[in-house]
Amino acid sequence: MKPNSKVIRKAKQGWETVQPKVYKTAGTSFKDITRFSLLGEGENEHELNMQTRVFRVLEGGYSSLEYHRHPHSVMIIEGKGSVILGDEVHDLNTFDVVYISPETLHQFHADKGAPLSFLCVVDRYRDRPAVPDEKMLDEIMGDSEARRKARL
Ligand code: MN
Repeated sequence: MKPNSKVIRKAKQGWETVQPKVYKTAGTSFKDITRFSLLGEGENEHELNMQTRVFRVLEGGYSSLEYHRHPHSVMIIEGKGSVILGDEVHDLNTFDVVYISPETLHQFHADKGAPLSFLCVVDRYRDRPAVPDEKMLDEIMGDSEARRKARL
């Protein structure tokens, strides 16, 4: 059997053989974010139990505010920004690592005058993200910096 090992080369924009994808389908709010699915969704990558993606957020953009049962393993690989984790906001710099545990509300912001790119590893089989409503935000975040930063 032919082995499926390979190298995916970095290109000027993104990676060779990897098409940038729309971030997500309707129903969530996000701004200026592109998804690169590097490993785990392609042909001959079925051996992987996880999927490795890179998200690139342009300056001023942000990811969906969401929560779900599956955890995220994240490393910042370019730029800087911040992340909402529940009722907390954390500044992020390149090579910082973030663990997002199950059911934790989270949202990445490129709000520090630079783009923010992060590597994100997830289980292949995972639940769909859910989006909170205003009432849930008030309950979880109260009158916090996180609540003021959150974009629904
Ligand atoms: Mn998520």
